[in-house]
Amino acid sequence: MSKQQKIVAAKAGGPEVLELVEEPIPSPGPGQVLVKVAAVGVNFIETYQRSGVYQVQYPFALGSEISGTIEQVGSEVRNLKVGDRVATSEATGGYAQYAVVDAQVLGKVPEKVDLRLAAALPLQGCTAHYLMHSSYMVREGDVILSYAGAGGVGLLLTQMLKLKGATVITTASTQEKKDLAKAAGADYVVDYDQVPQTVKEVTEGQGVHAVYDGIGKDTFEMSLAALRRRGTLVLFGGASGQVPPLDLQRLNAGGSLSVTRPKLGDFLTTPQERGWRFGDVFGWVAEGKIDVRVGQEYPLAEAAEAHRALEGRKTTGKVLLIP
Ligand code: NDP
Repeated sequence: MSKQQKIVAAKAGGPEVLELVEEPIPSPGPGQVLVKVAAVGVNFIETYQRSGVYQVQYPFALGSEISGTIEQVGSEVRNLKVGDRVATSEATGGYAQYAVVDAQVLGKVPEKVDLRLAAALPLQGCTAHYLMHSSYMVREGDVILSYAGAGGVGLLLTQMLKLKGATVITTASTQEKKDLAKAAGADYVVDYDQVPQTVKEVTEGQGVHAVYDGIGKDTFEMSLAALRRRGTLVLFGGASGQVPPLDLQRLNAGGSLSVTRPKLGDFLTTPQERGWRFGDVFGWVAEGKIDVRVGQEYPLAEAAEAHRALEGRKTTGKVLLIP
């Protein structure tokens, strides 16, 4: 087979702009490898790229999170070989049957971790990891508020927070999602409008140490109000839309608060940093300390359906495309 199928966003727009195209299977450059894709992780960032919230050049080849097996190795690659099982959050054009990837951004998937499942971890797992270790460093005993506790990041983040000994307050919009969030270990799982009261009761009026907010527009004000003195708001996404500009004086009036707006790429900057996060996340899964839930799988050709489901709050855990 010399051709492959791939999904591109033909122009900015709704899920209908996603097109299945056929193109030659690419060849790896000297420092690259060719990966036969086993599964593709679908993430919110691809909906932002598709819709035009993030600036990209169209036609745009979506997809950064993949797992698969190495089929070809570039002449300068020393650390990987044909047949290795690998995964990454840093591919380009990963909504495809094959992807050429820089060897240095790939991690090896431990034998104990299923190869398809491995596509659920590099992006959302490493995000949960950097949020709680590097954006705000969680300590044992902290009270943490996060949202979408049954989501891809949410389920992983709750489990990691519990490993660290934090108390977790989270939200979910349906009973099924609430049950999943609770099973992941969250201490309090409530409706969004119950957050202020819950935070007040759990912290005896003090507020939480940190909020991890991936919802954005609809929750930002509630997040700020939930913080204790010197608390930290980590705004890491905008599932409900982007947050308007913030008057910094409000951080002073609120009790010397901190707000940060991180992205994963700034927390995977060296081979050591990648190795640390990848090793922790995959290690916890291999050891059975963390459970990974794949809520939905779609054939590659149905990428538009996957986007509709993710944007429509219809998903739980990870959404995968299978080429
Ligand atoms: P999720 O699986 O968490 O899906 C989003 C969830 O958000 C929904 O299921 C829904 O849960 C909740 N939600 C609340 N309001 C809305 C709304 N108006 N529209 C859609 N969903 C809503 O997605 P991911 O885990 O993939 O991503 C979560 C967030 O994390 C996203 O904002 C994403 O951009 C961000 N992210 C950021 C990264 C970074 O480095 N900055 C990296 C990875 C992800 P419910 O129905 O229970 O409310």
